[in-house]
Amino acid sequence: LETILVRYSEIALKKGNRNLFENILVSNIKKKIEDIKVNKEYGRIFISKEKFNDEDIESLKNIPGIKSFSKIIFCEKNIDKIIDLWIETIEKNNLISDNIKFTFNTKRVDKSFDFHSDEISRIFAKKIFEFFSKKYRNIDAVYKGSDIVFYTEIRKDYTFIYFEKIESIGGLPVSSTGKGLALLSGGIDSPVAAYLMMKRGMKVDFIHFSSPPYTTEKSKEKVISLAKKLREFENSSKLFIVPFTQIQIKIRKCCDVDLLTILLRRAMFKISESIAKKYKYNVLITGESLGQVASQTINSISVIENVIEIPVFRPLIGLDKEEIINYSRKINTFEISILPYEDCCTIFVPKHPKINPNLIEVIEEEKKYFNEEMFEEVINKIEIVQL
Ligand code: ATP
Ligand code: MG
Repeated sequence: LETILVRYSEIALKKGNRNLFENILVSNIKKKIEDIKVNKEYGRIFISKEKFNDEDIESLKNIPGIKSFSKIIFCEKNIDKIIDLWIETIEKNNLISDNIKFTFNTKRVDKSFDFHSDEISRIFAKKIFEFFSKKYRNIDAVYKGSDIVFYTEIRKDYTFIYFEKIESIGGLPVSSTGKGLALLSGGIDSPVAAYLMMKRGMKVDFIHFSSPPYTTEKSKEKVISLAKKLREFENSSKLFIVPFTQIQIKIRKCCDVDLLTILLRRAMFKISESIAKKYKYNVLITGESLGQVASQTINSISVIENVIEIPVFRPLIGLDKEEIINYSRKINTFEISILPYEDCCTIFVPKHPKINPNLIEVIEEEKKYFNEEMFEEVINKIEIVQL
């Protein structure tokens, strides 16, 4: 049986809710990795399985709420036995070779044990040095600046060792803070926004506005693959696809073309809100970043969000494009986002979009095209893709 120690950080801060948060994290882990046994202990989780494969390790790196994890090996609580296990483990995994500097780091939680942590580390270092300096040249046991750290934990009921701490994404477990509906375009920004809110513990589903035949089947597939990529951070998700053409054409026909983008975005928000109300999402999530384009000035943002009541989360509002791109590379959505398929908003773009729209003027302009039945009709035609 193999065991992995899973560390989380922030859940520990949520005093009263800690158990709840832990249970959600455990259940998220179980959904990703089958056939595991789980042991919870103050501040951490142990998961065991016959054998963890590479896929399991990849999954653990991408589960929000996990800070880091380590494969551990249990051992008897006996100094000589631990040293033997270290020798075996170091050999088996080729952890020491010529010119390697290593450090032993020992935590002794069991105070009845004979030695202090530092003493134990020194004993280990000395023995391991003696053993391996016969085989390799220029190895060294050091306190600082080592190439590898050998960790030992001696606890009341058990002792274990490990040599690798694999970083995960941190944050909070998905479904621990609420449900969000992310407006997903085919661009670079909105997938990052959805990811950041998942990392803050939200269960996120997606809504996309598509305008066939102006946007092709390819652009729809692109959004589906983005949503699928993002699903890797949660367990399952839905994508609502809204047939938006009719509304776009109507706006284009009836309204001032310089207000087109603002009116389109208000329509998107309105439809998203009604989906959110129907399916119980607490907030909308967008990839807006302050000042990036004309519809993302403070003024435009306020005029757009004025049309709805539910809150909008914009996790990218203070990020630079470069920072957003770094995230998108990290979560592997970048390569999909830069595929060249057209977006519904790029088909009728105004030449001189208003960057300083006036709310009253916009509301007046909106009356020229808006009708309730058309919106209902569109909402009824929404396609739901289960991912
Ligand atoms: P992105 O890279 O996410 O497309 P952007 O920089 O192109 O963003 P806009 O086109 O102004 O900016 O869109 C702002 C936000 O509105 C997007 O981040 C996304 O959340 C939402 N959005 C835009 N177009 C669509 C669409 N066709 N379907 C769903 N949401 C959209
Ligand atoms: Mg866009």
